Amino acid sequence: MSKFNLAKAKFATLCVHGSGGVDPQTGAVSVPIYQSSTFAFQSAKHGAALFAGEIEGYVYTRLGNPTQAALEREMAFLEGGEAALCFSSGMAAISGVILALCRNGENLVSSDTVYGGTHNLYKESLPLWNIGVKEVNATELKNIENAIDSKTRLIFIETPANPTLSLIDITGCAEIAKAHKIPLIVDNTFATPYLQRPIEMGTDIVIHSATKYIGGHGDTIAGIVVGKKEFIDELRAKILRDLGAVISPLNAWLLLRGLKTLPVRMDRHCANALEIAKFLAMHPKINWVKYPGLSTHPHHELAMKQMKKYGGMVTFEIKGGRNAGEKLMNSVGLITLAVSLGDCDSLIEHPASMTHSTYSAEELEEVGISEGLIRLSVGLEDPVDIIADLKMALKKI
Ligand SMILES: *Cc1c(COP(=O)(O)O)cnc(C)c1O
Repeated sequence: MSKFNLAKAKFATLCVHGSGGVDPQTGAVSVPIYQSSTFAFQSAKHGAALFAGEIEGYVYTRLGNPTQAALEREMAFLEGGEAALCFSSGMAAISGVILALCRNGENLVSSDTVYGGTHNLYKESLPLWNIGVKEVNATELKNIENAIDSKTRLIFIETPANPTLSLIDITGCAEIAKAHKIPLIVDNTFATPYLQRPIEMGTDIVIHSATKYIGGHGDTIAGIVVGKKEFIDELRAKILRDLGAVISPLNAWLLLRGLKTLPVRMDRHCANALEIAKFLAMHPKINWVKYPGLSTHPHHELAMKQMKKYGGMVTFEIKGGRNAGEKLMNSVGLITLAVSLGDCDSLIEHPASMTHSTYSAEELEEVGISEGLIRLSVGLEDPVDIIADLKMALKKI
């Protein structure tokens, strides 16, 4: 092991080296993919001691694997948390954390604008376990405060929110959570730890759909939870062991590779998104553009306070509603019509009929997802080409 103190390294250095550096056994510079389901014991006694938890070591990949461990170590470093745990998807991470903290008859308080899958978990699955959800407009902190009762076990927020790009005051939420002695959970998928570090602002647990910017290349589904070691140990021992939504060693490795370039990619995503947001804001066929980096964004001040830069997502409303939006999405050539986000490729989609079709018409209106709202995940192409594609498609409307 090198003598360099990684704990004090800068963020970009940690992204490259945080997983532990060169493999001491082989000299491999890239963490090996330990594509093994099971691990041999040195003796019957050794196996029994591992099972009893008396010593540390690998037993079976659902319980732990060296490639997963490298990713967990790195993500804990990057988020400034004590420990991390990988899951097979972002939804497995979100549902796993909620099931670890909430029991029959208890409830959680959440921001009302969340990923469509999270909203569906709230509406369809959690009620089957008799776990209640109170979704509130969390841009007003008092709405969170007012929703908490004696059975509330956690606060969950997503900021910037998918797809409205509204921001929630993380520090303010953390104060409320502390006062009520319940954990604050932040879905940090849109920002990544490069742009926003919720644990430094008092958050207890950070969750990622690592499918998005952490992987960054549109080739992996995965989730990650970062938090206190005690909680992560419990999550591993109960939720991961019993529900089994484990990440594969190959997918863990793909995320480790993604992390090496995270700051470089995010800088470019942010720069491109700002240019595209400015272009759309000036276009006569666009009603409005929401991007946290524009001074016209209602939470721009908060964005400057809690984010380093403003991310790669741009939301806008086109004049002519749903029909005009469909025409735009069918007309782009470079930009791909697809859900998901955070890839090298620019992706465009219609939340009301796609990612957020789990919201009823009334719910869509309440959280501000209009029929004409389009979500653009700005990729790593040259911004000149992305703008040319949008210009060409807008001309057809
Ligand atoms: C995609 C997404 C999820 C769900 O993650 P999966 O990896 O698709 O299961 C959760 N939260 C946000 C903000 C997302 O964008």
